[in-house]
Amino acid sequence: MPVLVMKFGGTSVANLDRIKRAAKRVGVEVAKGYDVIVIVSAMSGKTNELVGWVDEISPLFDAREYDAVVSSGENITAGLMALTLQEMDVPARSWQGWQVPLKTNSAHSAARIEDIPPDNIRTKFAEGMRVAVVAGFQGISPEGRITTLGRGGSDTTAVAFAAAFDAERCDIYTDVDGVYTTDPRISAKARKLDKIAFEEMLELASLGAKVLQTRSVELAMRYNVKLRVLSSLNEQSDSAGTLVCDEEENMESRVVSGIAYSREESKMTLVSVADRPGIAAAIFGPLSEAGVNVDMIIQNISEEGRTDMTFSCPTNQVQRAEKALEGAKQSGAINYHDLITDSDVAKVSAVGIGMRSQSGVAAKMFKTLSDEGINIKVIATSEIKISVLIDRKYMELAVQALHDAFELEKLA
Ligand code: ASP
Ligand code: MG
Repeated sequence: MPVLVMKFGGTSVANLDRIKRAAKRVGVEVAKGYDVIVIVSAMSGKTNELVGWVDEISPLFDAREYDAVVSSGENITAGLMALTLQEMDVPARSWQGWQVPLKTNSAHSAARIEDIPPDNIRTKFAEGMRVAVVAGFQGISPEGRITTLGRGGSDTTAVAFAAAFDAERCDIYTDVDGVYTTDPRISAKARKLDKIAFEEMLELASLGAKVLQTRSVELAMRYNVKLRVLSSLNEQSDSAGTLVCDEEENMESRVVSGIAYSREESKMTLVSVADRPGIAAAIFGPLSEAGVNVDMIIQNISEEGRTDMTFSCPTNQVQRAEKALEGAKQSGAINYHDLITDSDVAKVSAVGIGMRSQSGVAAKMFKTLSDEGINIKVIATSEIKISVLIDRKYMELAVQALHDAFELEKLA
């Protein structure tokens, strides 16, 4: 029988009523003849509570025990969902990650999936089980310990199962009814897109649109998994959500598909560093070792052999960055006069595969911001994205103005 993967996020399984509602949707697909693999998140708020407990006991926790604790939220929902389905006379079983087994590497709290041997679940399907309810977010390491895939990791679990079982589709049920041109809380003119290309979704996800974990989109793109984002709260079950798929001709006609933003950005400038071969490596090596996710980088023109180096990173990594840079200075690896941190910035980005073939997108973006009197502090571009760093207080205004300028209210 064809296999369908259905993933329910935390808000879709927040209480027993919601679990029942989700189970009904699963029942509909079973009745259509699918064998269904349901991936569940923890009830909303549960994982945060578990993380909080770990932090309270041990701020510098042993990541293996962190995983043992925070993976448990999904075990509860998997069992409750299987019971709910059984009450509806749907033959269902819960599966924890290790039982499948979902094999990962040993990078506790941010493990990567290595393999999902399908045999155990396939055998049960052959014996009459119609739904395998799998606890998302968790797996088992080569050492036999429980691992987790990083926050939001159930999306990645779902896509990995869809790839491993050659599923017809992977439906991600969440609390929004699809992917929007921007955050509807910021622009009332935001529109739900019927389709979005993998590459665009990848940019939007990594830019902070929190609908899907970035890695799940990467995986879907690599294995060409047909991915759909839709709401489980929506009463009209016929709402088709947004399909994330290979790029199609009609998508190219739109230049920009979405405006993304990220509020928690900071800009750091090393003032007057010696401009010599190896200097960038000497700065960004220690930052990467310290786990700082450097995003944009600019090196200024140098004068008398010295230059300024500016980069951006998430605000909650600033302390780590400062520590790493001061350490590098003390060890003599780098030398700078001052380190200036600006934590009042936000990043706003325009994304669209149409940019590849259309010129003037950047110019239009800069003109729009300038018309609003918004100063641009840093610019970065890729083939299908333009990002700017601006004062945080103008973030909403910038998103609205760009959404208007690129006429995204006309998309669907
Ligand atoms: N429950 C986990 C989290 O909150 C994983 C997930 O829901 O995707 O991050
Ligand atoms: Mg999520």
